[in-house]
Amino acid sequence: MTWRELLMEGKNILTAGKIEDAEPDAWLLLEYVSQMDRARFFLRQQENAPEENIRQYRDLIRQRGSHIPVQHLTGTQEFMGLEFLVSPDVLVPRQDTELLVEKLLPLIQGKKVLDICTGSGCIAIALAKLGVPKLVEATDLSEKALEIAGRNAEKLGADVAFYQGDLLENISAKYDIIVSNPPYIASEVVGGLMPEVRKHEPLMALDGGADGLVLYRRLLEQVPSHLEQGGIFAVEIGYDQGKAVSELFRKHGFERIECCKDLCGNDRVVMGSLNER
Ligand code: GLN
Repeated sequence: MTWRELLMEGKNILTAGKIEDAEPDAWLLLEYVSQMDRARFFLRQQENAPEENIRQYRDLIRQRGSHIPVQHLTGTQEFMGLEFLVSPDVLVPRQDTELLVEKLLPLIQGKKVLDICTGSGCIAIALAKLGVPKLVEATDLSEKALEIAGRNAEKLGADVAFYQGDLLENISAKYDIIVSNPPYIASEVVGGLMPEVRKHEPLMALDGGADGLVLYRRLLEQVPSHLEQGGIFAVEIGYDQGKAVSELFRKHGFERIECCKDLCGNDRVVMGSLNER
């Protein structure tokens, strides 16, 4: 069987199984198994694939067909052009979240930055690698997530200090910029998410309480006392939370509140600065 036939078989199985992203995932798994990029694939597509690779690919396609996220099969996800290790203990970094990093990169030069609910560490590490901050620190409640985040920082050569704790409970310092992509999906909506997410990603990274806003309320209680004068707080939000989260920022004394849209035109980031004490 040629590489091309193997790829077609994978695409057909995933498409027939109504798997989201059937085509790109069949490609991704082929690249993973063959260690060939697409250019090389096109040169060699008529060559026979080794038996071992055929077996491995078919096994991965079968797993993807049972709704295991493709990133759990390859063990990685790209974010801001960097390759992050992922596991079922962390939320897979989303492209939507790149907006939060892009908004902050121009602001962090020489600044002290804290990422709360860091998960895989993608936000903290991308800021440390792609910007010139004074320091970057990050927290998470999950020890298991912090282990992945630490491995990512090491793999990518990023200087980030990680702390375990519930939001700011183990943090005493003040920062110029605090960022968070907390869980923000309303509890009753979580059960209706696609099986890749609902069954395979950590509930604690998704569930934002009864109305999805519980973590924003808790963060806004705690963040102001950890921000330097003029400090900035920025969060990712759900597409329908722009108004509610902006209002919470206002209630807690933030100014110059901005609600930014993602590439799909949905509200995705709320940020504001704190001057009055
Ligand atoms: N900060 C991580 C991310 O943006 C994890 C977020 C989370 O677990 N809610 O991917």
